[in-house]
Amino acid sequence: MIPFSPPRIDEATVAEVTAALTSGWITTGPRVKKLEEQLAAYCGISNVLCVSSNSAGLELMLRWFGVRAGDEVIVPAYTYCATANVVVHCGARPVLVDVGDDFCVNVEAVRRAITPRTKVIMPVDLGGFPCDYDELNALVREPAIVAQFTPNTDEQRRLGRILVLADAAHSIGAKYKGKAAGSLTDLSVFSFHAVKNLTTAEGGAICLNLPEPFDNEQLYKRLRIMSLHGQSKDAFAKTQIGNWRYDVTEAGFKCNMTDVLAAIGLVELQRYDSENLPKRKWIFDTYSAAFAKYPQFNVPVYETADKTSSYHLYLLRINNITEEERDKIIQRISEQEVYVNVHYLPLPMLSFYKNGGYNIGDYPVTYRNYACEITLPVYYDLTPEQVETVIQAVMNAVVQK
Ligand SMILES: *Cc1c(COP(=O)(O)O)cnc(C)c1O
Repeated sequence: MIPFSPPRIDEATVAEVTAALTSGWITTGPRVKKLEEQLAAYCGISNVLCVSSNSAGLELMLRWFGVRAGDEVIVPAYTYCATANVVVHCGARPVLVDVGDDFCVNVEAVRRAITPRTKVIMPVDLGGFPCDYDELNALVREPAIVAQFTPNTDEQRRLGRILVLADAAHSIGAKYKGKAAGSLTDLSVFSFHAVKNLTTAEGGAICLNLPEPFDNEQLYKRLRIMSLHGQSKDAFAKTQIGNWRYDVTEAGFKCNMTDVLAAIGLVELQRYDSENLPKRKWIFDTYSAAFAKYPQFNVPVYETADKTSSYHLYLLRINNITEEERDKIIQRISEQEVYVNVHYLPLPMLSFYKNGGYNIGDYPVTYRNYACEITLPVYYDLTPEQVETVIQAVMNAVVQK
């Protein structure tokens, strides 16, 4: 059986986690700080805050910006539920928009969805392929769009326009016009969940890249406190002799990362560019070379003049098939002991959103992309022989049916 996406755990990982476990400090401390500094350097920005998940990071930033009932947040219909769920948690309404053929949010659809209630746009770099950031960043700065922005909080007044909060769950390591994912918008949040390109088992990181007059260093300090119950000193700071007294400045959240998990991330990041990304790219290239020869397949675009993917999800589409036929193809692939997936069931097809009045008929490109999509295994430990097995299994299921 070829699994879909097992994590890369080896002696280096075990050694660093063991070092954290036996260091005398297992929760947020020096290893989290080190990972934050290394991530900031990796992305070419000044401040990164590690948190317990991408979902927690997105929600923290929506709450920081003061998103609440009566507000609207624009989210692509084609994403994982987390992107929209965090908007619901804040009491605001996710306004879903269609995507393009490349799975990225359609900028013209975003434009049409903007109202005076719009507070945030959340683009998703689906599969690791960056969205059209120049267009999105220009859109929120257009005078007519700025003029209808209606701020309710100090943060909203200070920004004076719609916030771009990227769900960069897939895209650490991706590039847009030479710039790294994490540095492309006001705020971006990575996921380090077990199936993601770079993992800490569970975890996430918020990349702070707000323009003047925001001070990202100051915001980092505020968010660190917000992610630890609003407590003015964290447990590590309190270990210093005589430093026990603390205050609580706001009713904060609890979504900090632990040093035990940061240890996994430190090992992952160290070899990410030299080992993980090249291997993933090789798997993508090998799949595309095999499938592009046949008219049945529509291979994904993952490199253009402006964009380079992080090679997170290989989103293969089969031409001229229905959703039912796609499901049967997956069945035939599974019978050959190869595990594949579909990314994603569009939000309007999930009961919660369907019952909330969203209709998949309003998102034709999202449905078209989804109905014929099959995601193939991509991970560091996948061997060239296994890549061949996957290709053969897909060929058997599609070409020679
Ligand atoms: C995985 C994922 C998330 C959630 O990440 P967590 O770290 O599990 O909270 C959000 N958005 C997308 C697109 C994802 O794939």
